[in-house]
Amino acid sequence: EDEEVEAIASSLPSSSKSHADNRWGDTSSYASKKKVQSWFQLPHGDWELVKILSSSASESVISLSEGKVLKVKTDSLVQANPEILDGVDDLMQLSYLNEPTVLYNLQYRYNQNMIYTKAGPVLIAINPFKKVHLYGNNYIEAYKRKSIESPHVYAITDIALREMTRDEVNQSIIISGESGAGKTETAKIAMQYLAALGGGSGIEYEILKTNPILEAFGNAKTSRNDNSSRFGKLIEIHFSETGKISGAKIQTFLLEKSRVVQCAEGERSYHIFYQLCAGAPRILKEKLNLRAANEYKYLRQSSCFSIAGVDDTEQFRVVMDALDIVHICKEDQESVFAMLAAVLWLGNTSFSVIDNENHVEVVEDESLTTVAKLLGCSTGQLNLALSTRKMRVGNDNIVQKLTLSQATDTRDALAKSIYACLFDWLVEQINKSLAVGKRRTGRSISILDIYGFESFDRNSFEQFCINYANERLQQHFNRHLFKLEQEEYVQDGIDWARVDFEDNQDCLNLFEKKPLGLLSLLDEESKFPNATDLTFANKLKQHLHSNSCFRGDRGKSFTVNHYAGEVTYDTTGFLEKNRDLMHLDSIQLLSQCSCPLPQVFASNMLTQSEKSVTGPLFKAGGAESQKLSVATKFKGQLFQLMQRLESTTPHFIRCIKPNSLQSPGVYEQGLVLQQLRCCGVLEVVRISRSGFPTRMSHQKFSRRYGFLLLESAASQDPLSVSVAILQQFNVLPEMYQVGYTKLFFRTGQIGVLEDTRNRTL
Ligand code: ADP
Ligand code: MG
Repeated sequence: EDEEVEAIASSLPSSSKSHADNRWGDTSSYASKKKVQSWFQLPHGDWELVKILSSSASESVISLSEGKVLKVKTDSLVQANPEILDGVDDLMQLSYLNEPTVLYNLQYRYNQNMIYTKAGPVLIAINPFKKVHLYGNNYIEAYKRKSIESPHVYAITDIALREMTRDEVNQSIIISGESGAGKTETAKIAMQYLAALGGGSGIEYEILKTNPILEAFGNAKTSRNDNSSRFGKLIEIHFSETGKISGAKIQTFLLEKSRVVQCAEGERSYHIFYQLCAGAPRILKEKLNLRAANEYKYLRQSSCFSIAGVDDTEQFRVVMDALDIVHICKEDQESVFAMLAAVLWLGNTSFSVIDNENHVEVVEDESLTTVAKLLGCSTGQLNLALSTRKMRVGNDNIVQKLTLSQATDTRDALAKSIYACLFDWLVEQINKSLAVGKRRTGRSISILDIYGFESFDRNSFEQFCINYANERLQQHFNRHLFKLEQEEYVQDGIDWARVDFEDNQDCLNLFEKKPLGLLSLLDEESKFPNATDLTFANKLKQHLHSNSCFRGDRGKSFTVNHYAGEVTYDTTGFLEKNRDLMHLDSIQLLSQCSCPLPQVFASNMLTQSEKSVTGPLFKAGGAESQKLSVATKFKGQLFQLMQRLESTTPHFIRCIKPNSLQSPGVYEQGLVLQQLRCCGVLEVVRISRSGFPTRMSHQKFSRRYGFLLLESAASQDPLSVSVAILQQFNVLPEMYQVGYTKLFFRTGQIGVLEDTRNRTL
């Protein structure tokens, strides 16, 4: 494998740096430059490299690849880079930075399995949809030794580790991208690197094993990704003073509960259900009265039971092993499986209508008895909880029978809650096992794997939350890369042309403003028992019509102008999903069960309600638990997340999906371009290249490198020492600027100093 490492390292056009000049942006006298090659956009949208046969200011004659000759407007042609720049590993090195050039460069590399490319400080990762030989111990070792320099998740992770140690500042690796772009795989690759470099105590092995567990319980096959994460995840990995991993903590966000009871044709529910049905040992199967997956209504409805190339039986074994490794005892594991079986059997319970008002009772069949047994309650208790509701009218307690649709909703709500509670409980147990002793600051690396921006034909409450989260993250990204950058230059008196960048504050205001923002209005409307999705949509239109990021559409829809494009949301189900109510009867049922987990779930649901006194409370008719709305809770989580990220040095990885087929070797330009635009990659390169991204205070610089000076500088001030160092090392004047408090460098300038320092130390 070592040979391969070298082959890749030497195939990279690293000598091309010197060709990067500042011509980018200069489109003025293009025709006069008589370039031989140029980009031309074909009618179907793809860009093609064409030869220019002749050219005047207004018209050019070009020849296409298949020999066709065309006369086109000269200004429709876009500059191409000299061939020597083909496949540069950092887009900053391109002489001409335009969309076709970037697309072509990424494609050129992708075709040679070089799936990673830098865009200034950001790493772009294009999903290969096949095994690429870029990982494993030899590569880890090579990146650690720095014998390979080509962009890689390992390289980014290595920088994070080094900066953590050097600066004693917490680091974060923020991974974003569309569903199926490769975020979760990328996160695992980063974890692999950290485990290899920070391993030793054995805890790193446990940390890696959380992945198969969380994927089994939180991932599912969707139309976009066979292994789609249906939750967001932040894993904070802690290090000891000696650089060894000492523990970790996982936080999850917004699990898609609805999938438990409902999923689209061709998709699956959570992997663990199929794994359990296929892989449970005989004794467990008998204990839980388990059947094949296709005998459960919740799993049957989408008519998809298996995933190509995945063996659920084998996966079940992997998950069981992983549960052992993170110290979930056998007894607890069995309780977990019992809850899963209870959810499946709950889906099979049915109702019979008993009067002409559509009131129901539960059919007393195998499903009912099995659920009761698995939860540890009587069939009578379960029957009552699913078909009636206790209400308080004045001073009297009355029992109301439920209609068929009410009972079905109650049943599904119970199934969803059991599953969501189980997921949270599992994460809690894992965290206990990985717990970090004393919380040290300045020694952790957090990896964020969160759902990217989503825009479908039909967008619902889930997309609304996800896209809101992405708006927040985008602001963090913008702030970090653009705003802070500019402000810092200005503060330090550096002469630097301002670069405009997209600011999404308006859109965030649309969501967050009180009382007239999307979230406040949603919560307000969710509190009215008689409100409907239509009254909610109308309320938005009434209050927000003048907001430039908002547009009211016909009927129950509205459109938000997100940084990544317009998305139209259909408000159907918004109120209900936001309230996410659980009947008190159901919570009571769980609390009366003799099995341990239902009791834990019930008490968690109740404490959650008690804790929520500060937020908007919901009690829409009937006896329902009072709790925070889903949107409010999510917003709170998000603010907390942002606070945590703000205190770290961020490293960004943007994952790109090259095609929608999940196939190797297919690169759809339009799809890639749209993603590059969404994540601001082009802007980043533009800004980074025109700036001085490396910076250090005079003090720090003189302390760090002062000892390399040939003549003693002990008595001099930090600034003089710094200048002396710069002179001794012949750093060219155009490569740095001296600010009031800091030195600013163009990319790559500090490298020589660091190398000399490391050799000398
Ligand atoms: P996301 O989390 O962004 O939705 P995933 O990380 O689940 O996407 O990736 C989707 C699929 O793409 C994976 O199951 C895997 O088959 C493939 N994939 C992603 N990254 C890589 C990679 N670096 N090497 C090989 N295959 C990959
Ligand atoms: Mg994922």
